[in-house]
Amino acid sequence: MRRIYLVCSLLVAMVAMCGCNSNCGVKGVKHVVMIGLDGLAGNTVEAADMPTVKMMMENGAWTLQARSILPSSSACNWASMYMGVGPEMHGYNTWGSRKPDFPSIELSENGMMPTIFTALRRHNAEWNLAAFYEWEVQGDLIDNKAVTYHQHIPMVEPRGEAITNAYIDYLKENKPEFSICIFDSPDAEGHGHGWGSEIYMSRLQGADAQIAAIIEATKQAGMYDDTIFMVVSDHGGIGTGHGSTSMSEMEAPLVFFGKGIKKGHKIQSSVVRYDTAPTIARILGAEAPAVWRGKVIEEIFE
Ligand SMILES: [Zn+2]
Repeated sequence: MRRIYLVCSLLVAMVAMCGCNSNCGVKGVKHVVMIGLDGLAGNTVEAADMPTVKMMMENGAWTLQARSILPSSSACNWASMYMGVGPEMHGYNTWGSRKPDFPSIELSENGMMPTIFTALRRHNAEWNLAAFYEWEVQGDLIDNKAVTYHQHIPMVEPRGEAITNAYIDYLKENKPEFSICIFDSPDAEGHGHGWGSEIYMSRLQGADAQIAAIIEATKQAGMYDDTIFMVVSDHGGIGTGHGSTSMSEMEAPLVFFGKGIKKGHKIQSSVVRYDTAPTIARILGAEAPAVWRGKVIEEIFE
């Protein structure tokens, strides 16, 4: 009898633990701040003057070799990051696709492939979900019916400053549960002057200072201690272009830093662009739509 009681207690405890694993997210994490740098090549980071990103790597979990889907171009890769699948399923198949080039394999209640914003909105109707981006096409890839607020801020000189300021103001005022700030450079400098060129590297330095300002703003907003920060990119480049299959074009950084993330951990498992959405859903305790094919990068968690 006593043995049966013990077995039953154990089963109850196991069920409770399972329930929590799928619904609770990473303990104590209330916010995810995802910063995107379009065209940040994985092989440029080491030589770059990016003290903030390197601090995030030294105190976080990272890879410089997260792999693109093909082609190694912008819209199709951003779509994969948001939609948890490759282009053969989401249908956004070119650098500039603003709608699927062939039908998405599944449509959400908002009429498009379910994105990370769709999943988080299903999880919590009250959450503040926000998107700031310099490249207008982004607005068609995020499921803008699921977001609380989104704003296109055209890229002007000085590069990155307008979007950083707008995003910082929003963070301080609204403390969003999930938000993204996507810079359209360094891609612009790569196309104009070459990946790894002096001007490209100088933009990385500038973007790094803007990332530092964003992190500082979360401290002022009282969010810092329960936030996970991410630095992501869609593709790298070679010469003045990208879209093909060299590793310079296909490998880009993916960095996680903050509450509950391992420190100084180089990610060992293979990472593809579409692992991004399920990993964010896991952090915030939302259910990944069944159609997603990406994997949660479990090894980043403490
Ligand atoms: Zn791009």
